[in-house]
Amino acid sequence: MTKRTLLMLSIILLTCSALLSGCVGQNDNELNSAHTGMQNDVLYQVSTIDALLEGLYDGEVTIKELKEKGDTGLGTFNTLDGEMIVIDGEVYQIRTDGLAYLADETMLTPFAAVTAFEADEAIVIQDTVNSSDVAFMLEDVLPSKNIMYAIRIDGNFSSMKVRSVPAQERPYPLLVDVVANEQVVFEHGNVEGSIVGFWLPYYVEDMNVPGYHFHFIDSERTEGGHVLDYTLINGTVSIDYTTGFELMLPSDGNFLSADLLRDKGGELSVVEKDD
Ligand code: ZN
Repeated sequence: MTKRTLLMLSIILLTCSALLSGCVGQNDNELNSAHTGMQNDVLYQVSTIDALLEGLYDGEVTIKELKEKGDTGLGTFNTLDGEMIVIDGEVYQIRTDGLAYLADETMLTPFAAVTAFEADEAIVIQDTVNSSDVAFMLEDVLPSKNIMYAIRIDGNFSSMKVRSVPAQERPYPLLVDVVANEQVVFEHGNVEGSIVGFWLPYYVEDMNVPGYHFHFIDSERTEGGHVLDYTLINGTVSIDYTTGFELMLPSDGNFLSADLLRDKGGELSVVEKDD
């Protein structure tokens, strides 16, 4: 029996629980996710990942406006000043000291993605698994590779490797150069907390990050960052099926004149992953 099979046997699928808003239909493959008004099931995004890769770090959308669009998500702040995690309706800034600060509502974001999180499915994990175990397991569980998912993992982690990036000054360098030269990495052992982020389809390439993108904050809301790697001891993975998308593009001259079609090679994977 493979490790992956064991993993699958060890998880408990809480599909169609009365506590949850919806589930995969039993007799067909339709998503029966609740569509009860407001912006549930809509991913709201500020600017594009390619704009961030180009060094467009000037924000136009306030944290107050962002919070009106969702209670869960991630992003960064004006001038690329740290990693953003949005959880339970609060927005935290994780700076290069590795510490989490409650973001002021007047702060601006040049790139963020949030949703009104409502779990459609929850998976309890009771065995120690690493980040690639979780990635494989989730890809087996997601009902389609053609829609978007907000994902939240609450649990105890035996290791958590995160990073943050410092505020930049004009002329702004490319994101790939900031990450290569200035990112600060933190490795935490035995920490309780929450991972928040998304799995997005490959067709979002150029607009957002295809596949997984996660940020972390501990349960005391004191430290965190952009997730590079982790080992989960036990916890709950909650998945919110997301079929709506709202994009807010910058209107400033830098965005309007940027060459978003520049050949970026593998810059995105360098920026997002633990290479
Ligand atoms: Zn990130």
